[in-house]
Amino acid sequence: MTDLLTRTIKFDATRKAGLDRLDSFVPFAATTYRTERNFDYGPANRSNVSALSPWVRHRLLTEQEICARVMQDFALSSTEKFIQEVFWRTYWKGWLEMRPSVWSVYETVRMKALKRTQTNGNMRSGYNAAIEGNTGIDCFDAWAKELVETGYLHNHARMWFASIWIFTLRLDWTLGADFFLRHLMDADAASNTLSWRWVGGLQTKGKHYLARASNIHKFTDGRFNPQGLNEKAGPLEDDFAFDQPVPPKPHTPLPLGKKAMLLITEDDCTFEQLSFGTNEICSIATWNLSDGRSPLKIGNAASDFTRGALTNAANRACEKFGGNTTSFTGNNAIENMATEAYDAGAECVMAPFTAQGWARAPMSQLAAKCTERGIVFCEIPRDWDTQAWSHATKGFFPFKKQIPQLMLNAGFDIKGKR
Ligand SMILES: Cc1cc2nc3c(=O)[nH]c(=O)nc-3n(C[C@H](O)[C@H](O)[C@H](O)COP(=O)(O)OP(=O)(O)OC[C@H]3O[C@@H](n4cnc5c(N)ncnc54)[C@H](O)[C@@H]3O)c2cc1C
Repeated sequence: MTDLLTRTIKFDATRKAGLDRLDSFVPFAATTYRTERNFDYGPANRSNVSALSPWVRHRLLTEQEICARVMQDFALSSTEKFIQEVFWRTYWKGWLEMRPSVWSVYETVRMKALKRTQTNGNMRSGYNAAIEGNTGIDCFDAWAKELVETGYLHNHARMWFASIWIFTLRLDWTLGADFFLRHLMDADAASNTLSWRWVGGLQTKGKHYLARASNIHKFTDGRFNPQGLNEKAGPLEDDFAFDQPVPPKPHTPLPLGKKAMLLITEDDCTFEQLSFGTNEICSIATWNLSDGRSPLKIGNAASDFTRGALTNAANRACEKFGGNTTSFTGNNAIENMATEAYDAGAECVMAPFTAQGWARAPMSQLAAKCTERGIVFCEIPRDWDTQAWSHATKGFFPFKKQIPQLMLNAGFDIKGKR
């Protein structure tokens, strides 16, 4: 195992820190990643994975930039495993985008489950033991604490953790998904909800993921030796029928030659690559919607990263367009933002597109409020999403076949150097 990539990572919520991590990871994106990515060596050694997810989830770095940088050094055939993982994020987002009810049903079921933890003593004590890391299952307790303290878990640990939560501890999966959303720096509606559904056997009906003690022992390099795992459970069942995929609504075209407010949310903190057409930015706002992730309190690591990402985007926007940024959060944000736009003389509010999840409904409410005030509201999509999401109609396998073409469409040389 290589020692050359930084073992411990400082998760600075800046675009520069994300780009630096990407640069240092690229030499390891081929062989090291392919052969070692499934090992969770613990928080003191993240040298075998990219750990880019907090940056890419906030789009302080984009999926396109990650693929472009890797393709500078490698052929797609050498780094296929890593590139496919990056495309999992794109796939999940596209899949949820076309089935918005999966998110709204999750929110409803979670609320009911949270209420049951208040009224049912057994459920409450099981839930509290799990989130406090007091179950007596060595690896699970360590990951619960690691998540709260650091805001990051390795992918394999997330799979084992979710599986033990569902099948050994017999806790409601939506509560586990909520625990992740509250604490992960990369908390993402699509990747999180759909991965929990996948582990439980709800996403690919009847196919679930069972954590096995021997597998955990091996892939944690002997750090854990869990006892008492339920390795025989059957998949979860529900009677939820997915909607037929609904193609996303067309975007409002950009107006021409207007004064505009640029609005930045946690969903996309790199405005530099977006085209604002002939419009002139006269005002800059950030909107922190992270409280919407859960009815419960968001953990420190997660909320610090999001606040930092928005501050970093705001600083860069001020440097580019001049002026100051106003930060919005909380209950009156929508009213206050529309007023701010109006007072600044903005005829239009432009924001990078916000995908399905907790930020979608507030964005739609803001759009309605702007229209009421005679201000045009536009969300700017990224080509990467528009092109890829339309293929997320079925499972990942057919989607995966589109990756070479999607990479070519993005202008990459996929035959590459080595
Ligand atoms: C139960 C569960 C919950 C999850 N919740 C989230 C979440 O809320 N937010 C989130 O970003 N990811 C989530 N994931 C996906 C995945 O675990 C993380 O994206 C990954 O561990 C991030 O670490 P990394 O950047 O070191 O990944 P690497 O292994 O270095 O992968 C590179 C990039 O590919 C993407 N990626 C890798 N694996 C996946 C995957 N399985 N699904 C989607 N994208 C992937 C990420 O953008 C990642 O940064 C979840 C997975 C599971 C099993």
